[in-house]
Amino acid sequence: MDRGSLEALQLKRLRDTVQKLERVPFYHAKFEKSGLKPEDIKSTADIRRLPFTTAADLRENYPDGLLAVSRDEVVRLHTSSGTTGKPKALFFSRRDVDTAAELLARAFCMTGVTRRDVFQNMMSYGLFTGGLMMHYGAEKVGCMVIPSGPGTSERQLMLMQDFGTTVVHVTPSYAFYFADFLEKKGIDPRRQLALRKAFVGAEPYTEETRRKIEAALGVDVYNSYGLTEMNGPGVAFECEGKCGLHVWEDNFVMEIINPATGEPVGDGQTGELVLTSINREAMPLLRYRTRDLSSIIPEPCACGRTHRRLHRITGRSDDMLIVRGVNVFPQQIERVLMSIPQIGRNYLILLEGLDDMTVKVELSPSAFDGQVERLEELQNQVAEKLRAELWVRPKVDLVASGSLPVTEGKAKRVIDKRSL
Ligand code: AMP
Ligand code: ZN
Repeated sequence: MDRGSLEALQLKRLRDTVQKLERVPFYHAKFEKSGLKPEDIKSTADIRRLPFTTAADLRENYPDGLLAVSRDEVVRLHTSSGTTGKPKALFFSRRDVDTAAELLARAFCMTGVTRRDVFQNMMSYGLFTGGLMMHYGAEKVGCMVIPSGPGTSERQLMLMQDFGTTVVHVTPSYAFYFADFLEKKGIDPRRQLALRKAFVGAEPYTEETRRKIEAALGVDVYNSYGLTEMNGPGVAFECEGKCGLHVWEDNFVMEIINPATGEPVGDGQTGELVLTSINREAMPLLRYRTRDLSSIIPEPCACGRTHRRLHRITGRSDDMLIVRGVNVFPQQIERVLMSIPQIGRNYLILLEGLDDMTVKVELSPSAFDGQVERLEELQNQVAEKLRAELWVRPKVDLVASGSLPVTEGKAKRVIDKRSL
């Protein structure tokens, strides 16, 4: 679809959504307060007149205060658990499930997946959308789907070998863990497995990490972004160019704002991603504050698609750590670590005492030659590289490959036990 038609469709769907939300007491009250009528939305730029929706709003209206249809029309519930209190609940109508699957099918096709592919979904099935939703998308393409879930690495490998898996869906942390597992078993995925692609998402990771996963598993890694509040996965996905994630703008209106002021930032500048779902029946959300930090790539993509792209998510606005008065993002640390060849794949940031930061990081399986002096030297090198990037020098603890904890779901990278 050309930009003009796409934008016209967006506007139509946005207006329909606002109209529909007049029936939801939460939004109705907000519209009343600001004197807004659906017909006031004359262009997508008028979206700025609409209220924001936050994670707190979802929690306060738990379980079904933001439902826009009758319960009878709901066919699916997914939730996303935050760090505290009640989860965020999201309802789907029959059409919503179909649409979500359709958007994922588009994403799969965009990376060159066809019905001849065997898709092994290593994400957890259940309330988390990464399992079921991806599954539906892959079935829509016609792939053979292996719903392996996270499971043990032994079983993942057996399924891959016996059924010729070509595409996997994993978190970056599990991809690394699995790569280590293969290395320890002496399996060369390039020669002994049929793997070609990995859809990697659910948590932030750097370009360096992408390259490491690609090298370790012998696959093309495509960044996959989504959140429960907007269907789950399939909000934005990379095309074969692997240079930013196309957002399905016929389903979502994106904005990038300054998280402190709520005002839009300039094109190409980094800020908080705000999404409005304009093609949902059961529970559309207006201007949802994702807290994810990114920027819009305004230039058209070489692939010819007209849906604009986002840069990879660099973290969350609430991820920022303040260490000795300096702002530090975990992704900065990851970028440095992953650029050092002797460094392995798992790391943990520990904040303790008054304001001390320790970065525990695994050595790569083949890096340690038994010489303790070399280890100390490397430790110092890593600490120095981190200091140059962060402006604070953390303590660096090099630990054996495979010794840091691995979680089944999203990785926990920061442990903050400070007594500030
Ligand atoms: P959930 O709704 O529980 O699936 O969590 C969604 C959140 O996971 C997003 O808001 C992001 O913070 C994070 N996330 C998902 N995919 C990605 C990705 N590709 N890159 C960075 N963060 C991601
Ligand atoms: Zn593209």
